[in-house]
Amino acid sequence: MSANSKIEWTEKTWNPIAAFLKRDITVNIGGRDRVIPKGTRGWFCVKCSPGCAHCYAEGINLRLGNGLTYLHRNLSDIEFRLVKYSASLPNEWTADLRIREFPTPQSAPAATAEIAR
Ligand code: SF4
Repeated sequence: MSANSKIEWTEKTWNPIAAFLKRDITVNIGGRDRVIPKGTRGWFCVKCSPGCAHCYAEGINLRLGNGLTYLHRNLSDIEFRLVKYSASLPNEWTADLRIREFPTPQSAPAATAEIAR
């Protein structure tokens, strides 16, 4: 994923690593159960400090991603993959851009990265 950014201290955001569900999960949204299928793409991180209490990235993932909260226990439901098209995007950007990698999964070193289609 990459996008022009509204963050004042950067011009683009970039995250070539995506988190895919390893199995179907059921989440409750607004009192209704919703099944999110295996293979759904999103993001993931593990909350590690009080500063993570109101993580905006988690909220985005709940609405638009794989539906998981950023709790350590959910790590086993995720497979991290390097997204091929996204990984090469910076090669297309012109020089002198301020780029923010966003967000960085803290668990990435333990993950198996592979090239996604
Ligand atoms: S993205 Fe990760 S490190 Fe950043 S606030 Fe959310 S849980 Fe914490």
